[in-house]
Amino acid sequence: MGHESRVGVREEQASGARLWRLLGLGTRPSERRHDRMPNPRNAHRSQLLEAISEFLLRHDLAVSPDNLLRAHAIMTKTNMRLANIVLDREEAGEPITQAWLDEQMSECDTTDSTSSNLDRLARELDRSMERFGESTRSAHEAASDYGAKLAQQTEMVANSSSEEEVVTSLAQVARAMLDRTREMEAQMKKSDEESRHLRRNLAKARRDASIDHLTNLPNRRAFEDVYKSEWVAAQAEMEPMCLALCDIDFFKNVNDTHGHDTGDRVIRAVAQALDRISDSCHVARHGGEEFVLLFRGLDLAGANVALDAARERFAARHFVDKVSGKAIGGVTFSGGLTDVFAHPDLSSALRSADAALYRAKEAGRNRIELG
Ligand code: GH3
Ligand code: MG
Ligand code: MG
Repeated sequence: MGHESRVGVREEQASGARLWRLLGLGTRPSERRHDRMPNPRNAHRSQLLEAISEFLLRHDLAVSPDNLLRAHAIMTKTNMRLANIVLDREEAGEPITQAWLDEQMSECDTTDSTSSNLDRLARELDRSMERFGESTRSAHEAASDYGAKLAQQTEMVANSSSEEEVVTSLAQVARAMLDRTREMEAQMKKSDEESRHLRRNLAKARRDASIDHLTNLPNRRAFEDVYKSEWVAAQAEMEPMCLALCDIDFFKNVNDTHGHDTGDRVIRAVAQALDRISDSCHVARHGGEEFVLLFRGLDLAGANVALDAARERFAARHFVDKVSGKAIGGVTFSGGLTDVFAHPDLSSALRSADAALYRAKEAGRNRIELG
């Protein structure tokens, strides 16, 4: 076969393959031997695609651009918050419907609007600082103006013969200086007050965006930042670090029997109990009746001692329903603890703590399992 005819065959093969794909038939059988060649990158991509489509099909969700993006964010854990709530819901055997997913996304939007609120306040503060700078500049300019005027007047006074004229002229300069100074002072005071007010608002908005209002503990969003930075710092210092997830046992029963307010009180009590060991760890509310703890500088044994002691102290307490006066019964929590650096990345460590928590529940609750 000559050179030209071989090119012709290749072109024909290529257009045939394109047609095959255009008809939605995928690759031709003759091309599929590539599939048998191991290519880790392709394997990873096809697994991801499979996971995304399997997720949408399993929950009977439309193949829309929004859902594809969400499924991608869940499967790749680029939106850890969404991935975790979806996982929790799947584990609880509750349906993941379009309405539920949309609702979760609007909560994510609230988080986004919190950050845009922060951005807005930061921008306002910047502008206010600029205005303050302008006031300072114009005060400086005014001061040199007085200097020039004073020199002018001094010259006039030297050439003037009448004493009355001298006094009037000096009084005029003094009054003008005084008025301008007062005006400057008022302007600078206003700018200063404005910046102070904005700084306070910004600090408050920053606190609001990272605090859980029921327990006053840092929220999940704040925790994720701490987790990332502590991971980097502990790794650099070659310090051990452990992560725990704790979840109140049979908490639904507390809500169902004693009401949501009593449930909230119990959540606050657990938060306080865990916060008491916060000198050895960072504690945050991870959502619902779940808490996350990060023990930097402690190995698995050390973190377990601290956490298990908190669990035991809490289990020994007796809670009473404030309204009915009835005993709430044994309120306990379970925990899953893992050595963070035994895992390749942050989300695998979190998954391992979650799996250990699951085992603690399976093993009868009110205990800490190591993962
Ligand atoms: P388990 O021992 O397996 O953890 O059982 P559970 O009953 O604690 O777990 P489940 O996930 O079934 O129930 C958790 C409940 O926590 C359901 C939800 O309504 C409730 N909950 C989540 N957040 C809050 C909250 O802020 N306040 C109150 N009162 N209840 C909440
Ligand atoms: Mg839970
Ligand atoms: Mg629970």
